[in-house]
Amino acid sequence: MKGPIMGYQRPSATSAISDSWQGHKNRRPPSQEPGTDYPCAYGSSIVAPFDGTVAEVKTSSSGATGRFVTIDFVDGRRARALHLSRVLVSAGQKVTRGQEIAKSGASANGRDWGVGAHVHETLFPSHRYVFGPNGTLDFERYVGAGGSASFVQVVADRQNYLNAARGERLVVDGLFGAATRDAIKRYQTYLKSRGWYTGAIDGDWGAGTQAGHDNAYAEWVRATQAPPAPQFHTATVADIASLPNTRGLQKIARLYGYKGAFDNQFGASSRAGMQAFLNHNYGGSLAAWLRAKWGYVGNDQWGPVMAAAATRADTANWAAL
Ligand SMILES: [Zn+2]
Repeated sequence: MKGPIMGYQRPSATSAISDSWQGHKNRRPPSQEPGTDYPCAYGSSIVAPFDGTVAEVKTSSSGATGRFVTIDFVDGRRARALHLSRVLVSAGQKVTRGQEIAKSGASANGRDWGVGAHVHETLFPSHRYVFGPNGTLDFERYVGAGGSASFVQVVADRQNYLNAARGERLVVDGLFGAATRDAIKRYQTYLKSRGWYTGAIDGDWGAGTQAGHDNAYAEWVRATQAPPAPQFHTATVADIASLPNTRGLQKIARLYGYKGAFDNQFGASSRAGMQAFLNHNYGGSLAAWLRAKWGYVGNDQWGPVMAAAATRADTANWAAL
């Protein structure tokens, strides 16, 4: 994949919709796989909406889906086109946006004409099937004009995340440009260092990167969504932000994935790095580290004595590391 990512291409030449994603959800009972229905003449060309790898094909007309092609997109999502008459690709095959993958049809329930002629395009948020009325995304929302770069929500989501959790400084424009690719490479390197990713450092956010990210994201959420602090509470890395200086502790955080500046702003990514350090060495406990290394004597509750020990640690680390 070269250059900026574009939005998705519709699977068929038509933009007419015979039943929308919301329409599928509004059915009684609701669709178990809400997607977008595009009416198209039997045998029309069906294309890959985006670059990716064919995850599954079904060449029999059985079941509610009939013949289908499922593609895992390089952006981490999955789509499948249903009711086909002919499948032209096979599982494991790489495809590119706009490449013909099938001929449209009306297959379902064991018949070539089990339904009216149309293609049903389903968009799943990740590389797995999630069935039920709330399992899918509205494909139409992600359609982008062919031939020119356009905003892609999932790219913007990742840019926001990489800025907040990884200290990147990306423009959140929803475009998959060189800077974003480089940031994803750094993220892949980090995921690899944590043992959460074994793939190539290529900047392509595929299934492996997504799986590693799921671990990192869960850790980040745990580290950053500390409940509001009562007056007396078990010390957490969030308490560090109340110290007058934190740049020495940011040096420690940087050894554990923090990429931001030593600026005394002990934000989400500083906390995540510090928490990773504590997890690795002190069972996740700030108090245990301060007792072991910085002369703190006391319980696990945050207070002035522990704050003084943390400040000693900060001052020494700023000077020494
Ligand atoms: Zn449908």
